[in-house]
Amino acid sequence: MFCVECGSEEKLYGSLCRECLLSKDLINSPSHIELEMCHDCGNFYDRGRWRDLDYVEQASRILDDKTKTHKQIDSIHWEIPEFEPVKGEHRVTCQAIAIIGGQEFKQDLEIGIRIRVQMCPSCSRRSSDYYEAILQLRRDGVASKDAEIELAIENQQILRYVDSLAGNEENAFLTKWGVVPGGMDYYIGSIVLAKNIAARMREGYGATIKESNSMVGMRDGQDLYRWTILVRLPIHGRGDVVAYDKKLYVVDAVSRKILSLKSVAKGQIYRMSPDDSKIKPVAKYSKLMEAVVVSYEGKAIQILDPENFKTVTVLRPPYLKQVGETVPVVRYDEQLHVV
Ligand SMILES: [Zn+2]
Ligand SMILES: [Zn+2]
Repeated sequence: MFCVECGSEEKLYGSLCRECLLSKDLINSPSHIELEMCHDCGNFYDRGRWRDLDYVEQASRILDDKTKTHKQIDSIHWEIPEFEPVKGEHRVTCQAIAIIGGQEFKQDLEIGIRIRVQMCPSCSRRSSDYYEAILQLRRDGVASKDAEIELAIENQQILRYVDSLAGNEENAFLTKWGVVPGGMDYYIGSIVLAKNIAARMREGYGATIKESNSMVGMRDGQDLYRWTILVRLPIHGRGDVVAYDKKLYVVDAVSRKILSLKSVAKGQIYRMSPDDSKIKPVAKYSKLMEAVVVSYEGKAIQILDPENFKTVTVLRPPYLKQVGETVPVVRYDEQLHVV
């Protein structure tokens, strides 16, 4: 085998020797490429959407698309080193890796990578107090001043969920949230996100959902609706302590049809209907007291009564594998119980 142009018998790349190959205009790369970045959330614009992207990967993909190659080259891709994604043009030495006749052929080229900075539609809506839905989280019997404490578990869940979607879902932000009489309100940028949260509250916490909407105007030629989603939590929440036939249970899980109760004395789980009228509330999770542990051995724990600081010996629930410096307690039937 010899080079079809000069007849050299050196190693061939396709049908040409290295020297003849290099004399060709092999790689015709753009002198610069542009990336658009949101200065608020740091997302990048990519094929019609703003996303949480690896900008180096995105830059190499754009460069792949915009590079024209000589017909000797079977395929090409770019390796771009890490660079600081700040506004302006960055001169970056990038490596083109071309495949010619099954062999890799590498070439370093300096490319200008321009980062343009603007605000993505999601962030500009957030900054203008935009919202598509109000999610109303409610539980019967919650006093407004305590709502944030009494609904702490559910509230944390909602905030975590919004966080996990921010950057992937358009308008996945909270415009504002806070305590209102009877619960918490969340002003949510995206109706899709609001419905998702409501569905999670139904699955994980047995909430009932009511939706309503009203037209509030037009946007981009389309009717704009604002939704109200009422998420009503069942009276017994996860972690609450209840009594049934004078025995104590901790609410282990709640769904629409089943309330799972964990026996404080035996550690066993019992499933029952959330509507069973024999279930009596003893203490909300947020109202459990903490008692200082004096000592413990086997099934017994000595604790300080948090109200009069007398030492009392109580039973250690079988599910309490590790005893910390304090344990959660309730007073029921005039006695303290570790739960
Ligand atoms: Zn040659
Ligand atoms: Zn943004």
